[in-house]
Amino acid sequence: MLDPAEQGRTIAYPGEPLAYRRGGRRLVGSTHMSDNDRSDSGIRDCLVVGGGAAGLSAALTLGRARRATLVVDAGRQSNLVAAGIGGLLGHDGRTPAGYYAAARTELAAYPSVEVVADEVTGGRREDDGTFTVTLGGGGVGRARSVVLAPGMEYRHPAVPGLRERWGGPVFHCPFCHGWELRERPMGVLARGAVGVHGALNLRAWTGRVTLLTNGAGVTAEQRRQLAGGGVGLDERPIAALDGPGTALRAVVFAGGGELAIGALLVKATLYQRSPLARELGATLIEPDEMLSVQAIRVDAMGRTGVPGLYAAGDAATSVPPSLAAAVASGHLAGAAASVQLAVAGRR
Ligand SMILES: Cc1cc2nc3c(=O)[nH]c(=O)nc-3n(C[C@H](O)[C@H](O)[C@H](O)COP(=O)(O)OP(=O)(O)OC[C@H]3O[C@@H](n4cnc5c(N)ncnc54)[C@H](O)[C@@H]3O)c2cc1C
Repeated sequence: MLDPAEQGRTIAYPGEPLAYRRGGRRLVGSTHMSDNDRSDSGIRDCLVVGGGAAGLSAALTLGRARRATLVVDAGRQSNLVAAGIGGLLGHDGRTPAGYYAAARTELAAYPSVEVVADEVTGGRREDDGTFTVTLGGGGVGRARSVVLAPGMEYRHPAVPGLRERWGGPVFHCPFCHGWELRERPMGVLARGAVGVHGALNLRAWTGRVTLLTNGAGVTAEQRRQLAGGGVGLDERPIAALDGPGTALRAVVFAGGGELAIGALLVKATLYQRSPLARELGATLIEPDEMLSVQAIRVDAMGRTGVPGLYAAGDAATSVPPSLAAAVASGHLAGAAASVQLAVAGRR
């Protein structure tokens, strides 16, 4: 839920021609219905839940197909805490906030797309196949199709000092942030095969890697693999991360002693942010040791198996999450939704 203090508050995105209001409609540039829909039934062609890379990409595709599209976005894209985006072609190094602002500005060119700052708090599929969602700001949205793109909740290990360094020297994706942190002494906080693979992989960015198992053991074979790859191993239970401010200086062990590191790779497990996908009838793939995401089950076009219901981005990925993947899957889900509308007789 949105903080009640934020309801009705205007959000100004610097440099953007659009203004948004929490719990309300877009203030500029809204037409609500597509230019090929003159029925004014109040039902959009598509409602997109989430305005991150996946949702905005879906909306761009739908807008270009002249589909009446409502994007509802709670404004908590998962990478906002990071200083920059790594690995997104055309946007490498850009700030996340700047990237989303640019995407929303592009959408302003498409009159059938409306973006509101609000939160979908519940939803249902009606007997006639349309969808109705409730909004935290008090409204209701109706649509012939829905693209779920709400992102995921990234859960990381509960180690004191970790949360405040998340998105900085504590990271979960070396392909996203390894470059900026390269050549620092690095730790990898993970267990089992995931930890061993993660630590060996990190050698691409630094010659000083230590696998930290936080009290867990490793097999003899894993010990050999680590030694062969030039990776250190420390199995002591961890008490905290330490460093000035949000920088990282060392990992401190419960029994005393510490190891100097400048960055820490952690394993994050991704969970749905709300029960919405299940409420609308989608099925979820539960996380296991290697596939650490509770993804919505979809096919390659983002179809959930529920007619009219699509999913994209982190919420539906069963591969390592990234902005590039979110943009691609959002585009495909938006295209699939538009094609299905046409097949069902919508111009
Ligand atoms: C710290 C961190 C750093 C990262 N760095 C990189 C990087 O450098 N490069 C890279 O490629 N990837 C990076 N990633 C991964 C990348 O951010 C994600 O893969 C990508 O953001 C997924 O896009 P998305 O649109 O699916 O979800 P999100 O970006 O999380 O956007 C989802 C949006 O939906 C909104 N929402 C959720 N529920 C609702 C609801 N019920 N109603 C309305 N709105 C809702 C959220 O508030 C949010 O605004 C990083 C991830 C993290 C956690």
